Amino acid sequence: MNHFYVTTPIYYVNAEPHIGHAYTTIVSDVLNRFHKLLGYKTFFLTGTDEHGDKIVQAAQEAGMDPKTYADRISGLFRETWPKLNIGNDYFIRTTDPKHVRVVQGILQKVRDSGDIYFSSYKGLYCIGCERFYTERELVDGKCPDHDREPVEREEANYFFRMSKYQGWLIEYIESNPDFIRPERYRNEVLSFLREPLEDLCISRPRERLNWGIPLPFDDRYVTYVWFDALINYVSAIGYPDGPLFREFWPSAHHMIAKDILKPHGIYWPTMIRAAGFPLFRSLNVHGYWKINEGKMSKSKGSVIRPLDLVPIYGLDAFRYFLLREMVFGLDANFSEEALIQRINSDLANDLGNLFSRTLAMTSKYFGGNVPPFGSQPDAMDQELMGHAREAVQTVIEEIPKLGFHKALISIWECINAANKYIDHAGPWNLAKDPAMKGRLQTVIRNALEVNRTVAVLIAPFMPSTAEKMLERLGVVKPIDELRLNEDAAWGSLVEGVPVNKGEALFPRIEVKESGKMPEKPLGRKGEMEREAISIDMFQKIDIRVGIVKQAERIPKSTKLLRLVVDIGEERQVVAGIAQHYSPEDLTGKQVVLVANLQPAKLMGVESHGMVLAAHDGNVLRIVTPEQTVAPGAKVS
Ligand SMILES: [Zn+2]
Repeated sequence: MNHFYVTTPIYYVNAEPHIGHAYTTIVSDVLNRFHKLLGYKTFFLTGTDEHGDKIVQAAQEAGMDPKTYADRISGLFRETWPKLNIGNDYFIRTTDPKHVRVVQGILQKVRDSGDIYFSSYKGLYCIGCERFYTERELVDGKCPDHDREPVEREEANYFFRMSKYQGWLIEYIESNPDFIRPERYRNEVLSFLREPLEDLCISRPRERLNWGIPLPFDDRYVTYVWFDALINYVSAIGYPDGPLFREFWPSAHHMIAKDILKPHGIYWPTMIRAAGFPLFRSLNVHGYWKINEGKMSKSKGSVIRPLDLVPIYGLDAFRYFLLREMVFGLDANFSEEALIQRINSDLANDLGNLFSRTLAMTSKYFGGNVPPFGSQPDAMDQELMGHAREAVQTVIEEIPKLGFHKALISIWECINAANKYIDHAGPWNLAKDPAMKGRLQTVIRNALEVNRTVAVLIAPFMPSTAEKMLERLGVVKPIDELRLNEDAAWGSLVEGVPVNKGEALFPRIEVKESGKMPEKPLGRKGEMEREAISIDMFQKIDIRVGIVKQAERIPKSTKLLRLVVDIGEERQVVAGIAQHYSPEDLTGKQVVLVANLQPAKLMGVESHGMVLAAHDGNVLRIVTPEQTVAPGAKVS
């Protein structure tokens, strides 16, 4: 059986998930789902990188210790991926004890073989990058990534003899053109390797940084974060001798953004070589998403955070947009306008329309059941089948080469050909002539078949849409069990099986004339985004637990009850809860009261406080302590 192992970088937990992380992870998910579709046994790894002084700094700023901080951010990543329909098999953290053991094992092995040595080093150090720079690497004397001058620093440290592997690495990259893709990044690494490669400092003195993996041979030091992090790709699958490692490592493909090309293109292969196990198969490098900076989101009235657009415009539309818009390896632009444009033209108009008209006609002419092929295929039918075959072929050829946008273009050529096929065949005219029944059957059947092929082809990109389409076409098969060769084959729908039109796959986004984007649907999230108040302001509110001593209706009012509440002293309170509670429900119950609200008169009754209640749609429920507490207990 063929195997496929794909990894995202483990994301550094000094920032929350953003579109860059989302793209890398979605593109890895597409590759993974595509290989499943081809029948490969797959493994998909993502996770978080949690050591290093940047984490310590970020934790300090957040007022937490590094582990608590790492737990929190790692949790944010872990919660984000299911929302983007990411089917990873494992989530690794570099603070996992299993990972720590593997890192120490590899360090020891490389040390024993003589490729790690101890030496003093004086150089220019960028605090942001956590590494020393050579003069040559600086731009105008500044770190190119941080645009600030490095500081001079002298340290005794452990070094990895990376220079020893320079010749070998050049030769390997040159004789394996697909090892680093696309070619521009392969060239970038080769050009870097034209200069002498220096040894890599792989330790940090504990007096300076304690948050890391201790060196197994000298506990005064912790491991440099890259030497720790890169090893996740093998520790996660049971290096050195676990069954997953043996099974999947030979087919490992790494997916990264271009900012971390050097550690992956140079450090990692030489580390692997020194540790004495085989190299991964390929390193795949993508460009950056440029957000229209400073531009306001039309729907949100704030600067665009692309991930916030997912609940508004739909996950599959978002996934489609990212994969269709970016040419893998180059930078691309993200804008809400462009996203809406794609939704309306490609998704609502082309795909959505093809699907809904096909099912509507199946329902109208054949009672909603898949008709048989009623006539021999003519030239028009052949042409349509040709388009479908070509789309299948292009997807198979392009996705492994990272040509995601080309694969999608080809699928959309097939969709457009199918819409034209229906226009030209004119089922509505065929239906008027009983002699054309056989032809009508063939036309509708072909239209259904092409929808099924499209659904299978888009499954890696838009899994939930594919699932929805197949289900309505009467195909009962879990999405992970779809196989391209069987399930995209022409004629594989079953005659007589009922289909179900359902609602539109992608409703059009109406852009109002003013150019204003649609209002965000009223959701809880919007309500949460209220102005923040300070803790001081909150503490001005005196909130107390009380017990209801008396409760009675207020004459002529349908909403109000008069309560006497004991909060250490007795208070008369008017509460607007009569439609939800009767007086006898309340007597003896504990309630939570705002005790320092200005007194007010309601229906002639004075109220000295406010009873807190939760509003769940039309239902109202008073707030009460989880267990009984003394009347007058302060709530904060
Ligand atoms: Zn820097």
